[in-house]
Amino acid sequence: MANIPLVNLKALHEELREEIDGAIGAVVTRGDFILGSEVQAFEKAFADYCGVKHCIGVGSGLDALTLAMKGFGIGPGDEVITAGNTFIATALAVHHVGAMPVLVDQNPATYNLDPRRLSSAITSRTKAIVPVHLYGQPADMETIQTIAREHDLLVIEDAAQAHGARFKGKRAGSMGNAAAFSFYPGKNLGAIGDGGCVVTNEDDLAQWLRAVRSYGSLVKYEHSLRGFNTRLDTIQAATLRVKLQHLDEWNEARRRHAQRYKELLASSPVALPQEEEDCEHVYHLFVVRCGNRDELLHHLNELGIGAAIHYPLPIHKQEAFRRRCLVPQPLVHTEAFSDELLSLPLCPRLTDQQLETVAQEVCAHASRPTSAHRQPAMSLR
Ligand SMILES: *Cc1c(COP(=O)(O)O)cnc(C)c1O
Repeated sequence: MANIPLVNLKALHEELREEIDGAIGAVVTRGDFILGSEVQAFEKAFADYCGVKHCIGVGSGLDALTLAMKGFGIGPGDEVITAGNTFIATALAVHHVGAMPVLVDQNPATYNLDPRRLSSAITSRTKAIVPVHLYGQPADMETIQTIAREHDLLVIEDAAQAHGARFKGKRAGSMGNAAAFSFYPGKNLGAIGDGGCVVTNEDDLAQWLRAVRSYGSLVKYEHSLRGFNTRLDTIQAATLRVKLQHLDEWNEARRRHAQRYKELLASSPVALPQEEEDCEHVYHLFVVRCGNRDELLHHLNELGIGAAIHYPLPIHKQEAFRRRCLVPQPLVHTEAFSDELLSLPLCPRLTDQQLETVAQEVCAHASRPTSAHRQPAMSLR
């Protein structure tokens, strides 16, 4: 058995074991378990890292997205445009504030929301666009911002897969009115449990979030708002502060491995992920497309190679969103790709040997994707 997991968290944690144990031990010693000094210190460090004024730690990425939207007053009767192929949380957040998710097709070269699909999806009810920086590559924020300004819409980035990624030199999370990050363990910057945050330059939103995440209170037992209990856990913040110092090195390693995969798979039948000019992709996932996807996935898994699918069903095909989302135009690429996408093992400590084993198996067993002829220039102009 090859035994190559999709993500090897153990290796990273072993390297940092003493530092993490020390940081957690200090929290236990101090006993400041709820919104303690580590939460403040991490929020400051992560805001600086992203190049924004505020970071507000919350309980999960889903809560971060939901509260960011709620904070801007998005609610019943409103529409929010996002991509058809994303993790379910993006659409759930829109639903949980009472608004309607409107799904648009993805760019077949980058897998990201295709800005050329935006204008015709905008109605008088549209309040916001939520671009997802899918698999670690920033969406085309420049075009999205231009369209948003023309129509007076908010832009809320779903940056849950893109910690540290850059678009024209700007970090993911620093370009929209606000952005949501997840610190789920498997993300590029992951905690040892659940966690998330909102980052923003808007002072009012930041202040509202600091209260609403903690029962609507900034001063104990004084409640200005009807809030929630969704705070970034202090032990998670302590762990994240240790790990943040290594994020750039880990993202560099991810980018190196992705480059190596691309070299080894260049003459294989699979379609490779493309990196946009001006984008620094951080390869949360390395996603290829192939024709015999289920067969190849089964073969790799049998060998102990942890390949996986992100995502097997687009949002509008999920039972939870039947009649609960709008699809103004056919999601041609989104639908074609859900049968073809395959994520190969990729994490900072993937070894050359492991990477070569995966590439060899893919070269030997993959077939060409049927939608491979749909080059973006031909299909979308
Ligand atoms: C992980 C993820 C989320 C949700 O984050 P949680 O912390 O798991 O709630 C939202 N959007 C995307 C694109 C994600 O990958």
